[in-house]
Amino acid sequence: MKIIAAKTAGFCFGVKRAVDMAFKTAKKKQKGIFTLGPIIHNPQVIEKLKQEGILPIEDITTPGIKDIIIRTHGIPLQVMDRISEAGFNIIDATCPFVKKAQHYAKLLREEGYQVIILGDREHPEVQGLMSYAGDDAIVVDSESALPKIKHNVGIVVQTTQPVEALKKLFSRVIEQAKNVKVYNTICSSTALRLKETAAMAKKVDIMLVVGGKNSANTTQLAKLCRSLSVPTYHVETDAELIPEWLNNVKSVGITAGASTPDWIIEDIIKKVREMGG
Ligand code: SF4
Repeated sequence: MKIIAAKTAGFCFGVKRAVDMAFKTAKKKQKGIFTLGPIIHNPQVIEKLKQEGILPIEDITTPGIKDIIIRTHGIPLQVMDRISEAGFNIIDATCPFVKKAQHYAKLLREEGYQVIILGDREHPEVQGLMSYAGDDAIVVDSESALPKIKHNVGIVVQTTQPVEALKKLFSRVIEQAKNVKVYNTICSSTALRLKETAAMAKKVDIMLVVGGKNSANTTQLAKLCRSLSVPTYHVETDAELIPEWLNNVKSVGITAGASTPDWIIEDIIKKVREMGG
């Protein structure tokens, strides 16, 4: 059985930067370090950070806070203001690409455009973007119907969306709006990962997609593979692998989300080898 691992699998620039920042902070300081929400969407990495004394919290009223690390997906502007006012030390690990999307959302609002955010409204990155985009901003995903929009609209995109979703949205927006300004804020790391995964999925018998079940870009990879009719299994660790998946399989493709550490990918490859790969 042949195993093909994606070159793009594993930590992207933004996640690596955030995790490095967190570990560096843990080395310098002894306690009182918290992340507002999980710093990245990977439960195993969050567990490692906890062992270093960095704990995720959901609000800033938790006793004992000294330092707050802002996660890669960013946080709403109002929450950032509250943290500053409370006097905590802020270590901002928001990915620079997410910051860019926040900047464009704000710019569009200031220029008088109604902002349309393409993404998942429940995702922390999108919730952060909404706080920059103004009261009349709307969030749409690639499937949902477009509500009535204004004549001047601006589009920004959750960094992990596929470009096809943006193309679809644009074609629907121009049916209603007169002026449309688009900032393609899709991160190139996401686009490359999706491209390589699609090419791989067409060549193999099954795909293993590795990463947090709560990770948007990992889920996106699994969705893409399934849309290409390849049997696809989304796993977080090697413990979830089931030998029957490999019955009559000649080739296995392995890809992973941007928040999946190398050690988890290596464990998966090792286990697939032991299972006959
Ligand atoms: S996927 Fe892109 S936008 Fe998201 S954290 Fe990584 S580099 Fe930043």
